[in-house]
Amino acid sequence: MDSHFRDELLGLTRSTKTVDCHSHTCLRRDYYKAGPRNLFNLMSYFERDIQGTTGKSSAELYREASSDEERWQILQRVLSRTRNVSYWRHNVVMYKELFGMEGDELDDDNWSAVNQQILEKSADPNWYDHVTTEICNLRTQVRNIPWFEDWEPEYFTAVLRMESALQLHQQNTRERLEAHLDRSLTDLSSLKKALADLTEEYQQQGAVGIKLAHAYGRTLDSQPVSDQTATRIFESALQGEELSRNDVKQFQDHLIFFLAGLAGEMDLVFQIHTGVQANWGHIPDSNPLLLLPLLRSHRNTRFDLFHAGYPFSREMGMLGKHYPNVWLNMCWMYVITMEGSRQTLSEWIDLVPGERLLGFGSDVGWPEMIYAHLVMARSCLADVLATKVERDFLSRTAARDLLHRMLYQNPVELYGLSE
Ligand SMILES: [Zn+2]
Repeated sequence: MDSHFRDELLGLTRSTKTVDCHSHTCLRRDYYKAGPRNLFNLMSYFERDIQGTTGKSSAELYREASSDEERWQILQRVLSRTRNVSYWRHNVVMYKELFGMEGDELDDDNWSAVNQQILEKSADPNWYDHVTTEICNLRTQVRNIPWFEDWEPEYFTAVLRMESALQLHQQNTRERLEAHLDRSLTDLSSLKKALADLTEEYQQQGAVGIKLAHAYGRTLDSQPVSDQTATRIFESALQGEELSRNDVKQFQDHLIFFLAGLAGEMDLVFQIHTGVQANWGHIPDSNPLLLLPLLRSHRNTRFDLFHAGYPFSREMGMLGKHYPNVWLNMCWMYVITMEGSRQTLSEWIDLVPGERLLGFGSDVGWPEMIYAHLVMARSCLADVLATKVERDFLSRTAARDLLHRMLYQNPVELYGLSE
């Protein structure tokens, strides 16, 4: 690989203002309310590997410990079995880049100093801004906002989460929406009107899209279901009758199609989680190809598909190629697998017009984790583009242009952000 050109690209990734295309970052007010972080509670996805390896959460493991020294012994034992995984390396990058870790691994000699640095820095009132704005160089974070919650517009751009809409056959979810809008949901059309009004309320406050992450709990497959069928099912739900699994799926499918139409009409982006789930997830349910009936029947809706659909990233590349209403979003990917990210990007760049590739989405809770994720992302982007130039006849001009597009220009255009 041409290391000079790779260095030039890496420099560009740092100087390019970046849009974080998918965020769950803790609001500033909540960050300081939570109190200073430490080595043991500044965690991200490695929690899932701790759970998968020990059968317990870290909080449960640390319950037996009464000092940081004892907590470190516990973490050390977990690491001896797991420290190869990318979810852990995400932490290692953060310790090195932000908390002065010496060496290339957390160990008996350096853990205490890292812990101390985390405690001090995370208590500094300027730290949150320093990380998100200065060193991450973020333009904004496109953040998931659950129903009825607010956000801090100086850091975030909102996308309204819609899983609750798929639970409206349940009385408690219905009552929360009824209370918020101060009206009753008496039939299917009043339910749809309520969803449209709630969405409009958020759009007026600046939301740029809606999001579904239903692939965690059910299949992405949804088929068109008639108004008549959905009406019948919703009426049974209103009567308090128990719905069959198939009824629930049909009711949800109908609403998913409704939301896709609504997003198109309101010019909102429809973000959908695909691929990677949590421990014990039913992996085939998350295949983005299952979205085909929805994508094909809503050609005027812009779909923003998440997590590179991993491990179905090649399938997602073909969706991008054949479906001009699909944007391909790399959010979460670099901390899942850097090698998978490089292979995925390398193929997508061959397949999909560059204007529909979204290069970065942090998908983490803590600002420090965004930065570590960005370091991994920047490295992969520089690797892939330098290699494409060297081996695959991509021009340097196209590589530089694509980098800028993926990190900044594409999300600015897709989400309608001001420049
Ligand atoms: Zn997410």
